[in-house]
Amino acid sequence: MLMPLLPNALASVLPTAFDADQRYSVDLHMHSTASDGALSPTDLVTLCAGRGLTHMALTDHDTMEGVEEASRAAQQAGLCLVPGCELSTRWQGINIHVVALMPGGLQGPMIEGLEQQREARIKRAEVIAERLEKMGLPNALEKARAQAGSDRPLGRPDFARALVAEGVVADWAGAFKRYLGSGKKGDVKAHWPEISEAVGWVVASGGVAVLAHPLRYGLTRRKRGLLMDTFMEAGGQGVELVSGQQNPDATRDLARQLVERELYASLGSDFHFPGSHAAPGSMSPVPRTAAPPIWQHPRLAHLRDAPSGMLGAKPLNKLS
Ligand code: AMP
Ligand code: MN
Ligand code: MN
Ligand code: MN
Repeated sequence: MLMPLLPNALASVLPTAFDADQRYSVDLHMHSTASDGALSPTDLVTLCAGRGLTHMALTDHDTMEGVEEASRAAQQAGLCLVPGCELSTRWQGINIHVVALMPGGLQGPMIEGLEQQREARIKRAEVIAERLEKMGLPNALEKARAQAGSDRPLGRPDFARALVAEGVVADWAGAFKRYLGSGKKGDVKAHWPEISEAVGWVVASGGVAVLAHPLRYGLTRRKRGLLMDTFMEAGGQGVELVSGQQNPDATRDLARQLVERELYASLGSDFHFPGSHAAPGSMSPVPRTAAPPIWQHPRLAHLRDAPSGMLGAKPLNKLS
């Protein structure tokens, strides 16, 4: 039974096509405390269930550490959980994110891939810390660690919080604008793999690779097309047609780029914490498009008919 908590028409079953401006009870991009999200995997699942979602993916940055807990919670809440993560990669000097939807759980080359990402993140944090120390944040690594509140590998948000806590900047936005955002000294990308390598891990591990938030890289339409071409050549199968709040014209234009390439369309809020602009499932509506929904991909087809909790009910690593 679907609770009508989301505005507008909300499809109760997964449709085979996106045929009108609609919202769906699906969110395939969210974060938990396993990376830079504020909610534990269990609390995230509870929130999603309360908002009437039927299908969700947990996609923490470069880790699937939260998936087991989320699976248990999803099973209890009667939700279909897709195991996943969001891989940090590089393309032409830009930090590009790839959402890995892993219906079979963590398996195959992804095991080694995520280990490599973990080590990359640890080394990268040291470099970020060195740079911030030179710019006026002494003991940056220890301070970011304290902000993280656990022993998980650090990310830029932990450094952003440290900069705010030490009064170096007034707020989080200022931390990214001056120190950590794209092109700033703290935006260290050298440790990440090429996008093609990361997509290779996903595809060889039974997963579906989805290009995350393609409108958020500041690319021209042409360059975005080139990125999609590289992504596809590496085996990438889908693109987030809707990520959080988007301009409807930009979304329709993006849909045309997907259709031209026969890419599947995914959708996600990129939820990190309550009170932000994107609550689970609260993305902009999906326009009418010939791009097939990502759950039409053969590797995710069981989502469509899955009784609630089906994926969560099966032990990880044991799915076909
Ligand atoms: P990292 O995984 O360490 O590269 O950190 C990336 C994360 O930092 C993103 O997933 C966002 O959560 C956050 N982030 C990146 N850029 C910005 C920005 N300009 N403003 C606010 N948060 C950002
Ligand atoms: Mn994040
Ligand atoms: Mn991202
Ligand atoms: Mn994300």
